[in-house]
Amino acid sequence: MEKCQFCGNEAGFLRSAYKECKQAYEEGTACILEIMSKAAVAQSDLPVLRETVHKVASTSYSM
Ligand SMILES: [Zn+2]
Repeated sequence: MEKCQFCGNEAGFLRSAYKECKQAYEEGTACILEIMSKAAVAQSDLPVLRETVHKVASTSYSM
């Protein structure tokens, strides 16, 4: 049995991660990239940006 690379639980035969974990990770990454690119364009202030990224990251990478 392979272990899920995101949560460490057994992922199943020939699987490196749960589909749900991988999806959450990819959505979180895409979301952060989107925030970053928007912030770069809008020149938004850094504390707010950092707070938002942290929020997304804690939701997506908490597993
Ligand atoms: Zn997992």
